[in-house]
Amino acid sequence: MKAARVPEPGADFEVVDVETPEPAAGEVRVAVDACGICHSDAFVKEGAYPGIDYPRVPGHEVAGRVDAVGDDVTAWSEGDRVGVGWHGGHCFECDACRRGDFQQCEDAQITGIAYDGGYAEYMTAPAEALAAVPADLDAVDAAPLLCAGVTTFNALRNTDARPGDLVAVQGVGGLGHLGIQYAHAAGFETVALSRSPDKEELADDLGADHFVNAAEEDAAQALRELGGADVVLATAPSAPAIESVVDGLGTDGRVVVVGVPGEDVAVNAQSLVGVRGGVEGWASGDARDSQDTLEFSDLRDVTPEVETFALDDVREAYSRMIDNEARFRAVLEP
Ligand SMILES: [Zn+2]
Ligand SMILES: [Zn+2]
Repeated sequence: MKAARVPEPGADFEVVDVETPEPAAGEVRVAVDACGICHSDAFVKEGAYPGIDYPRVPGHEVAGRVDAVGDDVTAWSEGDRVGVGWHGGHCFECDACRRGDFQQCEDAQITGIAYDGGYAEYMTAPAEALAAVPADLDAVDAAPLLCAGVTTFNALRNTDARPGDLVAVQGVGGLGHLGIQYAHAAGFETVALSRSPDKEELADDLGADHFVNAAEEDAAQALRELGGADVVLATAPSAPAIESVVDGLGTDGRVVVVGVPGEDVAVNAQSLVGVRGGVEGWASGDARDSQDTLEFSDLRDVTPEVETFALDDVREAYSRMIDNEARFRAVLEP
């Protein structure tokens, strides 16, 4: 089969013919129809994550079909449409797993990091890492929902926000353009915060009720004028951007960080104490969370904006993502 892999940390991708993997017991083989390119794939490309064996095939936004089933797998059959996200499997035995909190498994595997991912025609994955893909959902649309989608959807649905509450989405990019759609579909009064005024029309199309041009306006003041944010979903990986909204929280408001900046975030504790507010983080979800995301996206027509590329064009696709030029998610079709 053909695979796009990183030969060693920092090296360019190489597209090579390798042996098609066989599923071990407890695993399935997935014929990959589409795989999104995520900013976290830079961990593999640059060797920024401990313990990766090279060469390594990245890719944790995988949509495809079950193509072969290993021993002891009862939940999936050949031909099932499935997705694999960041959460690539768990141990079932640690304390977190015994409590059913698979996302926090002490021995969780990450797709495309612990084992080869979806930048290939085929990959294998543990059965518990699979999400069923709804029949009507196109593989190219499903792929980015398995990381960018589940991250924003799951972060929002695990807040205390209720329909009618003021929810701001900071950043109208790969994560943010999905976050706005989810916030709107969930019934929140939705604010888009962006430093690019040209994103206003798009934000409006995606369902934002308000647009704040953070390059010209004070974002926190704009949020306070709207009554104070119950939630700010911070998707832009920028510490100054995150710091600039803390003063815009309403009572019991939360800034939920899903786009992780490379530097520390300085927070004014007095602002938080005054509103009983908080700044917290959220990371993706497990396979059932991914499936919930796919099902909700199908139900409410939440669709990512994507650019598609052949596997041979992986270098171009990856640079468009890393240079922030892709609108908004780059997807490989192996
Ligand atoms: Zn990702
Ligand atoms: Zn575990």
